[in-house]
Amino acid sequence: MTTNNERDVIIIGSGPAGYTAALYAARADLSPLVILGQEPGGQLTTTTDVENFPGFPDGVLGPELMERMKQQAARFGTEYLTTFVKNVDLSSRPYTVECENGETFKAKTLIISTGASAKYLGLPKEKELIGKGVSACATCDGFFFRNQIVHIVGGGDTAMEEATFLSKFASKVYVVHRRDTLRASKAMQQRAFDNPKIEFIWDTVVEEIHHDEQGLTGITVKNIKTNETELRETNGFFLAIGHTPNTGFLGGQLETDEHGFIITKGKNPDTSYPGVYACGDVQDPHYRQAITAAGSGCMAAMQAEKFLQENNS
Ligand code: NDP
Repeated sequence: MTTNNERDVIIIGSGPAGYTAALYAARADLSPLVILGQEPGGQLTTTTDVENFPGFPDGVLGPELMERMKQQAARFGTEYLTTFVKNVDLSSRPYTVECENGETFKAKTLIISTGASAKYLGLPKEKELIGKGVSACATCDGFFFRNQIVHIVGGGDTAMEEATFLSKFASKVYVVHRRDTLRASKAMQQRAFDNPKIEFIWDTVVEEIHHDEQGLTGITVKNIKTNETELRETNGFFLAIGHTPNTGFLGGQLETDEHGFIITKGKNPDTSYPGVYACGDVQDPHYRQAITAAGSGCMAAMQAEKFLQENNS
């Protein structure tokens, strides 16, 4: 028996992971509550065409895909709350969830799907040009840059992987890195070095982004050793300087890796607390795709259902 403020399943965050968890939990008659968060729908709401989500042969707009997922979960009894979670208390079950709007809930199980936010450089117009030449996801947007020149910033595994991916489409990929050595693993560095389409611009930072009415036109870069600046024309500008998992509200209660991503147990979405699951980008520094997030959301809901059955609660 649950009161309105005590729930079987509370899902925190509303990207593909959260909505898929909601769909499965709702279809298991668990009447989930989804706390939508500060960016309802998550990162896909800031993209345009999504061409790699199965089931949409002509592609689908990111915001539309998220709205469809939301409606699908609503059809089976998911409840949505437009606020964000300030903090949770995992010291005793049912867990306490405090929201920014002043409401407090008790949750027998918690599914955390708050995602991760791509880091941006903080340059003027950078975010306004997302979808118009600026992107933080080469896997999502690389396809749109066939035979074009692109620049990517970063020196980690993501930058190498995405530069390699971009080289399949772009005519030329320039990697702009602020130092003269890479952080990326040796194998991934070598793959990029061996790729004739990829060229490195070392010791260099991006200072300015240029655009016209159609979108991005170029970037100004500065060599930090010589202080020389250069205006470089480019069709695409990709950020690969890391992601910040959205875990601040957890106050360090869940185990994370050195980058702050929640650690789950093996292939399961289980965290270090019973009945608390993490899915989507908040626990995935590697794949970060809508479809993998959705898959892990399904797993989290199935684990929550099993937990509730086994604990007779
Ligand atoms: P990382 O934190 O490893 O690397 C970020 C890169 O961006 C660094 O080279 C850093 O430079 C640079 N950078 C950060 N901030 C700025 C800034 N403000 N201006 C310019 N450059 C900046 O992030 P990744 O996303 O690359 O990787 C995250 C984790 O995921 C890692 O553990 C990685 O190994 C893993 N991963 C593994 C993959 C695989 O195995 N296939 C694929 C992708 C990621 P600097 O080096 O100077 O600090």
